Amino acid sequence: MEKVKAKKHLGQHFLKDESVAKAIADTLSLEGYDDVLEIGPGMGVLTKYLLEKPINTYVIEIDTESVDYLDANYPKLHGKIISKDFLKYDVNEVFGGKQFAIIGNFPYNISTQIVFRTLELRDQIPEFSGMFQKEVAERICEKKGSKTYGILSVLAQAFYDTEYLFTVDEHVFIPPPKVKSGVMRMRRKENYSLPCGEKLFFTVVKTAFQQRRKTLRNSLKTLNLSDSLREDEVFNLRPEQLSVEQFIALTQKIEADGV
Ligand code: SAH
Repeated sequence: MEKVKAKKHLGQHFLKDESVAKAIADTLSLEGYDDVLEIGPGMGVLTKYLLEKPINTYVIEIDTESVDYLDANYPKLHGKIISKDFLKYDVNEVFGGKQFAIIGNFPYNISTQIVFRTLELRDQIPEFSGMFQKEVAERICEKKGSKTYGILSVLAQAFYDTEYLFTVDEHVFIPPPKVKSGVMRMRRKENYSLPCGEKLFFTVVKTAFQQRRKTLRNSLKTLNLSDSLREDEVFNLRPEQLSVEQFIALTQKIEADGV
């Protein structure tokens, strides 16, 4: 069968280096779940290594040409190819509330949206790993004080232990992307429910980073905090100076303030 022609609007960059594909598949610990969902399998370079593992592999792919290719070339995948847009798909049609891992050499144009969707589904996703544009993989793993530390870092690390694993050169893809790639892994924390309102926590983090150069006193004005709370010295800081724990403590203070 003919190979799939790469389509730019779907973020298609096919990995040609088998050793990288195997290394990505090997990032899964296989602990705490029986199923894995690969997002954007393309022609299945990574899928092939997942199928060798003692786990049920499902794939979700938006491109029907790739779906036809997978269907023709991987008999083991029959019945496990979901021909849909991951961002619009209800994963429980397949997983029915079960735990599952997510993996992929992800489409870079929607990579942060994939992480946010994973965070929404955190009760079901104990492990998430794969390849992103290098900067995105780094951002997810970055600690406070760094320029790239942002919304994605704080929200991901509130629920997951994140780990940057290795960098991948652009020349191992067809066609090569303009950027370097990075492989990272997130493992859900043992006790991942936050000791503060989670919805408020998301609001505080997003609002603070929307104006990342301002102090929290200025950026959090829209939350209508009391004057006495706003005198707390944490409000002198800019968002990149706060650790995840400090954002949680800040959310608790805001809650106590009665917003
Ligand atoms: N994993 C393959 C392909 C990577 S390119 C490899 O390593 O070679 C990214 C893949 O994601 C493409 O196959 C693209 O069609 C698919 N994709 C893009 N947007 C998607 C979406 N919203 N849902 C599911 N798959 C998507």
